[in-house]
Amino acid sequence: MFNRRELATFRNQLLGWFRQFQRDLPWRRTKDPYRIWLSEIMLQQTRVAAVIPYYERFLQRFPDVRSLATAPQDEVLRLWSGLGYYSRARNLPKAAQQIISKHKGQFPTHLEDVLALPGVGNYTAAAILSIAFDKRQAVLDGNVARVLARLGGIRGDLRESQRWQKLQKNADGLLEPKSPGDWNQAMMELGATLCIPKSPQCLLCPVAKFCEGRKLGIAESLPEKWKKRATVEVTLAAAVFTDGKGQTVLLPPPQSTREKASTDHVPTLVSKMWHFPTLAVAGEPGRDLIAFLRKQLPEEQNHNWELVPARKVRHAVTYRAIILFPFLIEVKILPRVSGAKQVALTDIFSLPVSNLTRKVASAALTTAALARAKR
Ligand code: SF4
Repeated sequence: MFNRRELATFRNQLLGWFRQFQRDLPWRRTKDPYRIWLSEIMLQQTRVAAVIPYYERFLQRFPDVRSLATAPQDEVLRLWSGLGYYSRARNLPKAAQQIISKHKGQFPTHLEDVLALPGVGNYTAAAILSIAFDKRQAVLDGNVARVLARLGGIRGDLRESQRWQKLQKNADGLLEPKSPGDWNQAMMELGATLCIPKSPQCLLCPVAKFCEGRKLGIAESLPEKWKKRATVEVTLAAAVFTDGKGQTVLLPPPQSTREKASTDHVPTLVSKMWHFPTLAVAGEPGRDLIAFLRKQLPEEQNHNWELVPARKVRHAVTYRAIILFPFLIEVKILPRVSGAKQVALTDIFSLPVSNLTRKVASAALTTAALARAKR
């Protein structure tokens, strides 16, 4: 991308800027690979501000790899609850167990060993190895790819394999060999604070004079748009049973299967966590829900449930736009369902449940409060 002299100046300017202006983030105060690994996993697809409180709570409970390796999955999920992309949380204890069994509790320092940990891909491995161990591995994710595309004036869909390989080559070539950890963080910081997706702050950019995209006046339009999968609407209905004590029924996390999830696959939509009895509906939601409950709860055939509609819930899971119709069903005795648990409706927010389930609980609580006020 640059000749030798340009490259030296580029590196100096970006590193100097980073060292002076970097944000003070909790995971930047440590070289502990466990903490850096945790932060990198949490930061995948998630904003820094959202991650910080989760990161701190998680470390209080699981301060090291040994405590995480023996953690009950439910507890890991509970501490992750609300952060989304729950496979990340499920992989963490598995990876911790692998570190204990294969690496005697020491975080591995070879790329192949780090990549063999569940939930760790190229980007995360490069980030951990460079930041914790100063290994010369250049990171490349969507954020860094945007910066590189603008710097090099690279057009087209960055996800295309050949283009992505070219970007990785550029990232490898730019990497400052003496401070790979700081260098990678400087690239990430530039993408997160100045070279942002909309309206890049080129006037403040420490490497603006090297930027081809800026020179060509196309920086803001890079990376060029790739075709997003069209949004698909999914309609669901959920039953929120409540007894006189405010208890409700949650079904257990669905078993994983190898089948490819369909668009309206309920286990995927509830992030494979504890959830209310829920189904995808094509017809009238209340009627479909009753038919579903009668099938699922054969012993309860004779009950004449009254379904009280709660506020409609909207939620998005990847390309799916979900509309969920929650129904409050007041009963004297909660139905017994194999593997299910009975919990206070108000306690759901501290359980390992998806954001969709939280929204359903919140809508049901509002409806229950209104119903009580009317009596
Ligand atoms: S000059 Fe602008 S577009 Fe180029 S790298 Fe800097 S912030 Fe990004």
